[in-house]
Amino acid sequence: MTTLVSTTPKKIFNAALGEPVTGPHETPDISSIRKASAELLETLDQANCLLEHAAPEAILTWAVENYFPRFTMATGLGPEGCVIISMLAKIEPRVYIFNLDTGYQFSETLELRDRIAEKYGIEVDLQKPELSTVEYEKLNGGPVYVAQPDRCCFDRKIRVLHRVAVRFDAWATGVRRDQSPTRADTPIVKWDKKFGLVKISPLAAWTKKDVWNRILAEQIPYNPLHDRGYPSIGCRPCTRPVQDGEDERAGRWSGSAKTECGLHT
Ligand code: SF4
Repeated sequence: MTTLVSTTPKKIFNAALGEPVTGPHETPDISSIRKASAELLETLDQANCLLEHAAPEAILTWAVENYFPRFTMATGLGPEGCVIISMLAKIEPRVYIFNLDTGYQFSETLELRDRIAEKYGIEVDLQKPELSTVEYEKLNGGPVYVAQPDRCCFDRKIRVLHRVAVRFDAWATGVRRDQSPTRADTPIVKWDKKFGLVKISPLAAWTKKDVWNRILAEQIPYNPLHDRGYPSIGCRPCTRPVQDGEDERAGRWSGSAKTECGLHT
């Protein structure tokens, strides 16, 4: 596999987190985030074609063979993430898996992390923002998610992912094409310009039914909130249960135009 053309990790770290967490809502210095060479982009295009019809396990095996140990996975511990963890437990359990712990997650989500550890021996690391929720709200005169959810997601998720990304060359996500119109064109493999990583979505071609069939067949631990009307679970203040017939992500940032936290857009 072609190696990445990159700036030094330290430079990216500084660009991503050099500013105070509560500073102005601005993107990190894009010019210092790793860029892909034309050769790498071509290689990824070829890999994407090759893997389009491959099973998720084969896609993850390809990722491990090409990028481990500089291969990571970010998970909100949704059903897709739990399925991928179950696969990595068999393929390469040493892959570094982390959760963006905003401080606003449901207790059920954090408890699921413990059940995953118990079943697979995999400890999902909690990557937290610099400031606790109490400190963050104190500095900003209250919860930022109310009036500025984009800024809150940026400070408590995007900045943290930038901090982690510098240690890796590739990351896996649980994004599926049928989750929402904004995810319909998700490739299996692509260059992620925002974070300077190869982005791998092994479940892109799977349906919700495929995911739940696997969870039930293998008794993979999942968040009990899914049985209480929450098909998609993010932070507590920004997630509500959905009604019959609603889109599975309709409960995220309900009542606002926001549909994504910015990790996948
Ligand atoms: Fe903040 Fe809501 Fe985004 Fe969580 S989902 S980081 S609470 S705006």
